[in-house]
Amino acid sequence: MSSTVTKPKLVLHICCSICGAYLSELLKDRFEIIYYYYNPNIHPEEEYEKRKASVQKLAALYNSEFIEGDYAVQEWYKTISGFEGEPEGGKRCPLCFRMRLAKTAQLAVAKGATHFTTTLATSPYKNEDVIGAIGTEIAKELGLTFLTVADFGESKKDIWAKTRTLAKEHNFYHQNYCGCTFSIWKK
Ligand code: SF4
Repeated sequence: MSSTVTKPKLVLHICCSICGAYLSELLKDRFEIIYYYYNPNIHPEEEYEKRKASVQKLAALYNSEFIEGDYAVQEWYKTISGFEGEPEGGKRCPLCFRMRLAKTAQLAVAKGATHFTTTLATSPYKNEDVIGAIGTEIAKELGLTFLTVADFGESKKDIWAKTRTLAKEHNFYHQNYCGCTFSIWKK
C-alpha cells in the first residue's frame, strides 16, 4: 500500500526567477511551495510584468501555485518615504524588505502555511542578515517559521552560482537592476 507524505506548506516570496531557480530545487522536496509575487517596488510596470511572467514560468515548471500580490505602488512609496535618496543597501531597503515580508507572512497564515521565506536573501546584492532578522521577527509575531539562508542547505555563494546556471538553461528573464526607480538611477 502506498502512502502519500504531506509536506508542510511554504510561501516563497519571489521577486525574480533568477534567484528562485535553484532555491526551488533546494526546497521542493521539503515543502509544498506557493510562489508569491509581491513586489510593488518594481518600476516601471513593464519591468514588473517581465519579471512576473518569468516567475510564472518557474512556478509552472514546478507545478506549483502562483499568487500575485497587489501592485501597490503608492503604498510602497509611502513606506519608503524620506529615504528616497539612500543608496542601494542603505536605509530604504530594510523598509522595502519588511513591507514585502510582512505581506508574505500574512499570506502564509491565510493559506495555512507553516513556513515562509524569500528569494531576496540569496542575492549577492542583498544583506541576508538584515533580511533574516526582519523575517524572523515577523515570523515570531505570527507563529510562523522563517527560513534564513542558513536553512537552505547550501552556502549563499554556491546557491548563486548554481542559480545563474539553471536560470540560463531555462532562459529566464534577467534584470539588470534591483527594482525601484532609485536603483535604476544609481546604475
Ligand atoms: S534598491 Fe531594491 S531592495 Fe532597496 S528599496 Fe529599491 S527595490 Fe527595494
